[in-house]
Amino acid sequence: MTQSTDLHDLTVAELASALRDRKVSAVETAQHFLARAQSHTDLGAFLETNTDATLAQARAADARLAAGSAGVLEGVPMAHKDIFVTRDFATTAGSRMLDGYHSPFDATVVSRLADAGVVTLGKLNCDEFAMGSANENSAFGPVKNPWDITRTPGGSSGGSAAAVAARLTPVATGTDTGGSIRQPASFCGITGIKPTYGRASRYGMVAFASSLDQAGVLARSAQDCALVLSSMCGPDPERDSTSLDVPAEDFTRTLAEPIKGLRIGVPAEFFGEGLAPDVRAAVDAALKEYEALGARLVPISLPRTELSIPVYYIIAPAEASSNLSRFDGVKFGHRAKEFKDLNDMYEQTRAEGFGDEVKRRIMIGTYVLSHGYYDAYYLQAQKIRRMIADDFQQAFQQCDVIAGPVAPTVAWALGGHGNDPLADYLADIFTLPASLAGLPGMSLPVGFGAGNLPVGLQLIGNHLSESRLLNVAHRFQQATDWHTRRPQGI
Ligand code: GLN
Repeated sequence: MTQSTDLHDLTVAELASALRDRKVSAVETAQHFLARAQSHTDLGAFLETNTDATLAQARAADARLAAGSAGVLEGVPMAHKDIFVTRDFATTAGSRMLDGYHSPFDATVVSRLADAGVVTLGKLNCDEFAMGSANENSAFGPVKNPWDITRTPGGSSGGSAAAVAARLTPVATGTDTGGSIRQPASFCGITGIKPTYGRASRYGMVAFASSLDQAGVLARSAQDCALVLSSMCGPDPERDSTSLDVPAEDFTRTLAEPIKGLRIGVPAEFFGEGLAPDVRAAVDAALKEYEALGARLVPISLPRTELSIPVYYIIAPAEASSNLSRFDGVKFGHRAKEFKDLNDMYEQTRAEGFGDEVKRRIMIGTYVLSHGYYDAYYLQAQKIRRMIADDFQQAFQQCDVIAGPVAPTVAWALGGHGNDPLADYLADIFTLPASLAGLPGMSLPVGFGAGNLPVGLQLIGNHLSESRLLNVAHRFQQATDWHTRRPQGI
């Protein structure tokens, strides 16, 4: 490399080849990105960096590069959403409950990426236990949107999206339970993919709603997402019994395939009232661009789109209330200093350790699972969940991929939803259906709306169609330059 200041502008593929060609070392690369993270702490994207741990990993990468035993991503720096447990860095899940917690092992996703040669820069801020849409539920403060620091970066992978948009890391992991990769990617003008449920192992991901939680990638382009996702996926039968028995795949292989004749389903329900006109304009323009690229738009219907909100906000809290019962002050995490007896210890610990949104969801979850309400709420929600999944299968009879907005508006102001959790929940309307159906989804930047804030296009594919989605996104990015735009001053 001629100038190390250019490093943060390189794509993942360019960085990997610069490292392989020994034009830059892994240590120099890591130092460059750590310095950038240091100079942008105002964004609140990183919860932890650990220079010693990062440089030790980078030195090991350099040794493998020198020895000719490098992995595909050898020396490429990356940061992880603080939902993935890591041995070298503390893991908080954005919660006081896990403040200072050190895992004795790495999440499968983290170790697979390390096997490919990735160097970890640190851990990224997120909503507490990934519950939220604005990153304002983090116990460690909100994250700011690099396009406008008075705005939310989205959530719950807000730290991941902001860090990639501000070029503090070329790529980051995220998790998506109901939209937490797609929506922050959209709000921050970057590209994100949530693969099919079960495609990447959940082992070592702090659990929120286990039937929905899925790891994925946020990067600047579909090509970078494809490269990194290829090293993350694959079965993990001994550690995650819900991981799919589908071999890892090289998602870059089919990126460049033509999309002529592609049938893009456009669901009427994604374009109704509530969709802001600026978002609609950018999405419409993107669909036109796809037509120019040879795709055909097919009107489709996902009739139960609206129901995905009550269904998700019953199922996700139900699972969360069960998953979070493990935080009892005994095994790990926070324990209250003062208590009268064992029950009081549980109560004080959980009262102190959990934030308001998490408590709200535990209460909703235990309520909908309780005797007498289980049939009326939880079981009913499960039935409608199945119908939502069936609606997608109907739709995929007529189209190859589905396209629409990611969110009804551009990023809202931090604090803009005040103390109204419903306002956050409603804004999830377009991302929840694919999550409930376990389908892969993406967001790619397709323009700007009010306040010069980015707008994302959502692509949804059938199960295991990640290659296709990435191909469809990549073709768009070859023809346009929205994904290369950067926030002012970055
Ligand atoms: N916004 C949704 C929620 O609050 C989705 C979060 C997520 O995908 N982790 O639950």
